[in-house]
Amino acid sequence: MEHLLDPDFGREPILRARSLNKVYWLGTAVYAVSNVSLEIRQGEFVVIRGPSGCGKSTLLSLLAGLDRPTSGEVVLDGQSLSGLSENELSAVRRQKIGMVYQSFNLLPNLTALENVALPLHLSGTPAGFAGRHAAYLLDRVGLSGRSRHLPTQLSGGEQQRVAIARALANDPKVLMADEPTANLDSATTRDIRALLTELNRDLGQTCVVVTHDHSLIEDAHRVLSLVDGRIVADEPGGAAR
Ligand code: ADP
Repeated sequence: MEHLLDPDFGREPILRARSLNKVYWLGTAVYAVSNVSLEIRQGEFVVIRGPSGCGKSTLLSLLAGLDRPTSGEVVLDGQSLSGLSENELSAVRRQKIGMVYQSFNLLPNLTALENVALPLHLSGTPAGFAGRHAAYLLDRVGLSGRSRHLPTQLSGGEQQRVAIARALANDPKVLMADEPTANLDSATTRDIRALLTELNRDLGQTCVVVTHDHSLIEDAHRVLSLVDGRIVADEPGGAAR
């Protein structure tokens, strides 16, 4: 609800990229991301799509502060990521970005609850609150009955729900997901799609999702199409119609 009560909801860009370039030198210059400028407003559900190798993952990593651009700037929640030290950057990421991956990336020796609580511990949340909030988040993603399961004891869809709960732990400004349904069957894909759209619609969670999945495009407010590292189209998605 917090987002919906924010007077800047839907107006101020929460994430801004200016003239982003990411160049790899492989004998010749390979522009993985080429002159990308964009603004994402609070509460938006934005899908980034495009053929394999067009720079989607690289762009998402730059927007998340996981990777540094060759040139250009990312401004997240009013703060430029340029010039931050590695420690400062990881603190900003921990506080402001929730990241979800194709392969879930849960820690195998931790239970579902412990995986969700980990970012809370890392950001200094007292243990009692961290445990209670992690339990709330697992309930929020429909997994309260699985809190003591290890990742290997969960289905792919359940693991992705845990990963989404973990990404939400520090109440991120932006939830980012890189092909979150690529390893899931079609029924589970529908569940994860429903969860992401529910988080966006009910909680106003800003979401940026890299995907090939057309059903997610139907749920998005905006769809950015990338070709050869460039944004070639910025169009309304299904949710905007
Ligand atoms: P996508 O996510 O759309 O499949 P990527 O962002 O993974 O695309 O990659 C974009 C381009 O950048 C590709 O041509 C890829 O080969 C290249 N690339 C990505 N990472 C590296 C790297 N570490 N070194 C060299 N080239 C890279």
